[in-house]
Amino acid sequence: MRQTITLLGATGTIGVNTLDVIERHPDRFEVFALSGHRQFQRLAQQCIRHQPRYAVVLDAQIALKLSALLSAAACTTEVLVGTQALCDVASDPCVDTVMAAIVGAAGLGSTMAAVRAGKKLLLANKESLVMAGTLFMQAVVESGSMVLPIDSEHNAIFQCLPVSYADDHRGGVSKLLLSASGGPFRGWDRDRMRGVTPAEACAHPQWAMGDKISVDSATMMNKGLEVIEAGWLFDMPASKIDVVIHPQSIIHSMVQYVDGSVLAQLGHPDMRTPIAHALAWPERMASGVEDLDLVALSRLDFAAPDERNFPCLAMAYGAAKAGGDAPAVLNAANEIAVQAFLDLRIDFTEIAEVVEHIMNEYRFSEPESLAAVEESDARARVMSVARIDRIER
Ligand code: NAD
Ligand code: MG
Repeated sequence: MRQTITLLGATGTIGVNTLDVIERHPDRFEVFALSGHRQFQRLAQQCIRHQPRYAVVLDAQIALKLSALLSAAACTTEVLVGTQALCDVASDPCVDTVMAAIVGAAGLGSTMAAVRAGKKLLLANKESLVMAGTLFMQAVVESGSMVLPIDSEHNAIFQCLPVSYADDHRGGVSKLLLSASGGPFRGWDRDRMRGVTPAEACAHPQWAMGDKISVDSATMMNKGLEVIEAGWLFDMPASKIDVVIHPQSIIHSMVQYVDGSVLAQLGHPDMRTPIAHALAWPERMASGVEDLDLVALSRLDFAAPDERNFPCLAMAYGAAKAGGDAPAVLNAANEIAVQAFLDLRIDFTEIAEVVEHIMNEYRFSEPESLAAVEESDARARVMSVARIDRIER
C-alpha cells in the first residue's frame, strides 16, 4: 500500500525538497493534495508532474490562473480555494500523512486539522506548535496522531532518544542539546548588524531556506522558537534544553544521558535527510543526500551562544517559562517585525526591539481554545504594527 500524502506549502523550500524525496520512491507514495499561495506557476508544474487529486490556494484570482494552466496541460487536479479547503485536504479520510510546511501562523489551522484527524504529521511549521503548544499536544493525545519532526534539530533529537523515552518517561535522558549554526552574523556585534540588508540576512551560510526562517536564523529567534518547539515535542522544560553554536551544521543536535553519554545525529545540512527519515519512519529510505565524508570535513567547532548581541534567544526562553499565550505573542510580534524588515521599514536590530517591546507591554493569559490563541495572535500583531509605525516616524 502506498502512503497517501497531503503537502501543505508545496511551493516552499520544504515543499520542493519533499517532492524531490517523494519522486525517488513512486512505489511508496502517492500525492493526494498540494497547496501553495502566490507561486501558482510552480504549483501548476508540481500538479502536472505529481497529479494530485486537489490543489489548494487562498485567493480566487490565483485559483483561476492555476485552473487555466492545469486545463491547458490536460491535468485533472481539482483546484480548491480558502483556508477551510486547506483543513479539508489535511483531514480527508483518504490521507495517511500530512506534511505541514506552510510558513508562520498561517499554518496553524491546517496543521491542527491534521492533528485532530489523527494523521501521521510531518511537522515543519514549528510556529503552530509554538503558538498553541498545550492544545496541540492535547489534540495529539486525543486523536492518536503521530508527530514526526522535520526541523533538523528536532528530527536529530528524535533519532537520538531511547526507545523507552515515552514509556518510562525520560529513559535516562538528562538534557537536550540543540545545535545552532549562529547564522550569517555569528561573531558580529549589534552595531555592525544595524544596517544589514534583507539579502544579507537571508544569505544563510549552511542552509537554503525561505526568507522568514532565514531572517529568524540571523536573529537567532529561530533557535528560540526551536527551544519552545523541543519543549513541547519532547516534554522537557526549557531549563533542560541548551543551545550549542556549531557553525558547520553537521551535528544536527544531541541528547545527553545521565551516565555521561551524548548521542548525536550527523549529516549534510540538507533537509531531504529529515524529510526522508520522517516519510519512511520507522523504516529508512534513500533521500538523495550524499554520504558524509568526515575526513574531508576534518573538524567540527562548538561555542556558547552570544546572548547579548542576539537577544531574541533569551526572549524565547522567557516566553517558554511564562507559558500561556506568551509564545504565541512572541511569534506574532516576530512575524510582523520580520516582514517589516523584509519590506525595508525597520532595521535588522529593530526586529528584536519590537518583539521585546510587545513582550513587555502585553498582558499574558492562558488560552483555552484555538480561537483564544488566534485572538492573542491578532492582538499582538496590532500592537506590533503600531510599534513599527512609531519607529518609522
Ligand atoms: P517558504 O517561504 O519557502 O515556503 C512557505 C510555503 O508556505 C509556500 O508554499 C507558501 O506558498 C506557503 N504560504 C505562505 N504564506 C501562506 C499563507 N498565508 N497561507 C497559506 N500558505 C502560505 O518557507 P520554508 O523555508 O519552506 O519553511 C516552511 C516551514 O518550515 C516554516 O515554518 C519553517 O520554519 C519550517 N522549516 C523550514 C526549514 C527549511 O530548511 N526551509 C527548516 C526547518 C523548518
Ligand atoms: Mg531548525
